Order: sequence, then structure tokens, then C-alpha cells
Amino acid sequence: MTSKRKQAIIRRRIFICVCIAVIVMASALIGVVISAISKAVNSDPADTSAPAAPTDKAEDTIPYEDTVSINEYGLDTKYERLILVNPDNPLPEDFDYEGNLTEIPAEYINGSLNQIDKDIWPYLKAMMDKALEDGVRLYVRSPYRSYSTQQMLYNNQVNKQLNLGVEEGEAYIKAATIVARPGTSEHHTGLAVDFNIADISFEGTEMSDWLKANAQDFGFILRYPENKTDITKVIYEPWHYRFVGIDAAKEIKELGVTFEEYMAKSN
Ligand SMILES: [Zn+2]
Repeated sequence: MTSKRKQAIIRRRIFICVCIAVIVMASALIGVVISAISKAVNSDPADTSAPAAPTDKAEDTIPYEDTVSINEYGLDTKYERLILVNPDNPLPEDFDYEGNLTEIPAEYINGSLNQIDKDIWPYLKAMMDKALEDGVRLYVRSPYRSYSTQQMLYNNQVNKQLNLGVEEGEAYIKAATIVARPGTSEHHTGLAVDFNIADISFEGTEMSDWLKANAQDFGFILRYPENKTDITKVIYEPWHYRFVGIDAAKEIKELGVTFEEYMAKSN
């Protein structure tokens, strides 16, 4: 073999190697371009929202844990007001509650009294608004009462009993089962409400039925249930509801107990 032929073979081999190298490099380049294009396509817009979603979730987690007791009406289900007021647990004559009251707007009222505990007003309002949404018009007949207002109501009831022919000693006792003696009324606490009609004709109305079915969802209990007078010392009052808190109200309803029994159990 001549040296010219040898050189020609070497040149051809070099040329083939260069061609292979060019093909390899070109295909590598094409691969890079394709992968870059597919990345660009994927990242727009799906990729931009994909990383944002877990971030949002992570941000949501913190407030969610903080507000886990806030229900669909924006009410804290764990908020409680468990003061027990009854003939055995009276409030002092100078019980001062004026500082914690707020005025109920006129459209919610059908009586002359219009004050309620300011912290439970959102619960009462939400309940009355929901009832209205369900086609049931609730009115606040009697909310907060001062000691002197209660004294006047009690005296009126004593006189009523005397006029009915009840003996004097008995009249005071009988009156106390109908109108709480001053100091023993829950109305002093600003946590109790009489709705619409404060007598037994309220029983069986759509208002009464709605409250029986739904009041617990807003933290209220039927405070003086039927056939529990021996425990509450108060006649059946389908119109009188008391705020205790949503979780507590649900538990009391589920257990079918009076507030007296509930408090005795939890103490
Ligand atoms: Zn009442």
C-alpha cells in the first residue's frame, strides 16, 4: 500500500469520525431544545399554579387551626357563658350588668326592653336572621331586665294571684313559679331572651317549633322544659331561651337535661 492510499484511508476515517461527532452533537442539541420547549410549554400556565397550590395550602393551614371552632355563621362554637341563676343561685341586688350590654336594633324587637349582653348579640342576631331566612319571624319580647324591672314584674304577678283568690303566703310562692323573684331571673344576666309571646300560646307556633329544632346551633337552650319544673322550679316556658354556648347547648339538648343538671354534672 502506497503512503498516498494510507493517507486517503486515514482522511476518510477522520471524516467519518467527524460526521459521527456532528450527528451525536446535533442530536444532543435537538434533545436539549426539545426538553427546553416541553418545559416551557408545561410551565405555562400549569407549572406556575402548581407550586402556588401547596404554598396556599400551607398558608391556609395556620388560620384553619386557629378558627377550627368557627362555624358556618362565623360564630365560635366553643364560646361559653355558663352562669347559673335560679332560686338557689340568686344574683345580688347590686348586680351591675349595664356595662356589658348593647342595644338590639328596633326591627328585632316587639317589646319595650331592648338590651342584651353585647358578646352574645352576634349569636342571637344570627339565629333570628336564619329563622327569617327559613320564613319564621322571631321577635325579642323581653331580653335584659334590671333588678327593679324584675321587682315590678314580680309584684304584678303577686297581685294577680291575690286577685285570683290565692292566699297571701301562697301568692308569693305561686308568683315565683311564673315570674322569677328579683335576683333569681336569668334576664338579669343579659343572656336570656323571651321570644314573641311570653305565654303558653307560644307553644306549637312555627316560632316555637323552629327554636326547638335550631336554637342549639346558635348556643341557646330551652331553659325551662316541659315536665322539669321540679328541677328548674319554673313552669314550662317555650318562649324563654338562654345562651350558654353552641357546644354546650348541643350537649345539653343531646343529653336531654336541664341547665341545673348539666351544671351539677360538670362541677
Ligand atoms: Zn324569660
